[in-house]
Amino acid sequence: MSHARRYYAPIVLPVAADFSVVRDAILDVDGSGRITYCGRAAEAPPTEGAIETRLSGILMPGLVNAHAHTAMTPLRGMGGDLPLMSWLQDVIWPAEDRMRPGDAYAGMLLGCIEMLRYGVTTSAEMYFHSEQVVAAALDAGSRVLVAPVYFDLPGRNWRCAMAAIGEWIDQDGLRFGPADRVELCYGPHSAYTLPFEALEATAEAAAARGALVHIHLAESQSEDLKQRLEYGSVPRLLRKAGLLNGRVLAAHSVHLSGADVQLLAEHGVGVSHCPGSNAKLASGRADLAAFRAADVAVGLGTDGPASNDDLDLWEEMRLAAMLTRLSAMDALAMTAREMLLMATRGGAAALGRADIGTLEPGRWADMIHLSVDGPPFSAGLDIPDEQLLATACEPPLPTANSSFEATPALGRVEGGWKNVPSLAPRISGERQPAWHRPGLPPAERVLALQPGSEQGHVLHVNTLAAAPAEGHRLPPCRSPRPSRPACGPPSSTSLAAPA
Ligand SMILES: [Zn+2]
Repeated sequence: MSHARRYYAPIVLPVAADFSVVRDAILDVDGSGRITYCGRAAEAPPTEGAIETRLSGILMPGLVNAHAHTAMTPLRGMGGDLPLMSWLQDVIWPAEDRMRPGDAYAGMLLGCIEMLRYGVTTSAEMYFHSEQVVAAALDAGSRVLVAPVYFDLPGRNWRCAMAAIGEWIDQDGLRFGPADRVELCYGPHSAYTLPFEALEATAEAAAARGALVHIHLAESQSEDLKQRLEYGSVPRLLRKAGLLNGRVLAAHSVHLSGADVQLLAEHGVGVSHCPGSNAKLASGRADLAAFRAADVAVGLGTDGPASNDDLDLWEEMRLAAMLTRLSAMDALAMTAREMLLMATRGGAAALGRADIGTLEPGRWADMIHLSVDGPPFSAGLDIPDEQLLATACEPPLPTANSSFEATPALGRVEGGWKNVPSLAPRISGERQPAWHRPGLPPAERVLALQPGSEQGHVLHVNTLAAAPAEGHRLPPCRSPRPSRPACGPPSSTSLAAPA
């Protein structure tokens, strides 16, 4: 346990229920990393022995990326202008089949650092190579919810993959690592890539462990025609499978009826809204107004970096608001408060997490510091609250890391970043470069070999940085682990109607 800390800031946005702007504020964190006080300095309790830090800008909760396949960073931009099915089948899945565990580690580490630069401290991941995803998140200093993905494909055994998740949870617990920075989840890819019995079995296994089920839902118009024909809608199918009785995170949730939205609301399903990915792949636009009217918890997700081309949640925030305003032809359809809320507390609620997303006593102090030394804040901080919040929704300028602790991995990743593009030719299969020659280092060693710099240009982030945890490994699985985690159906051969 480390020392307690006290942070002074001219502005704190706790993003609590009343969404107040707290001026001349103090935030206290105990030695375990949990918040003990957040409010006006004049009302703060006395403290002794705390390490004090005085900041010049804004403190707010770290952003929550509620749906991502972050380890895909080496695949960014590949097949970028292709339509969805061609992009998946001709480019992304073949590339993912060539990814090695070390590539996933490198991709996840780079993605975590990229997200930390954008102020994202938590991400909900769905991918394979889950041991490497966990290790990279711990090394980077991020908080992560990891859902090992599974499909029903020839040569892929969903039963084994699902059982392995249960064994991992039974062995290490649902949450583990320093400051509980890892949570394990179930990752059935979607209702249209798995048989009905797989969804039933998932519901039972996850409920027995209180685990979150992270699943793609109604992303594109034609993906689930057979399921809709048989069950009326995919939410109805999920209800019949018993999946809606537990914790569920439904990514995308674009093509839903009013009755479907009501079903999600009745069962407390969280939604991850991914406007950037949905726009890039022309999948459609989720109806935020309907979710809000039904009181569904909604967070924001980037989706994979290959179907978005970045992991910038500030961009998602602005896209969500602008598309909602435009579609309603109403500038009040989504306010700055609602944008900030969706990226923080809303995301935490969608994940079923009451321990992050808001700066209030008892929660983890996952927080970011917005520097105000830049054009967006040229009017200063002594402005009305509404003006301040609208300004805070602008993408923050990266600033030199000074007052907050750097994450342990930051230096070496800053140094190794520029070398990672050299992974792309091997993964894309376009060339057979030197990577295939024996004796050359795998991706994770390329990162480790770079000396890097301790002064990277980053957004200030408090990540509760700690040494990576050892020994968290997925139990051995006799059959190959599921592959092809990108959004969308994996192949035409797997699109059989559910059993
Ligand atoms: Zn996805």
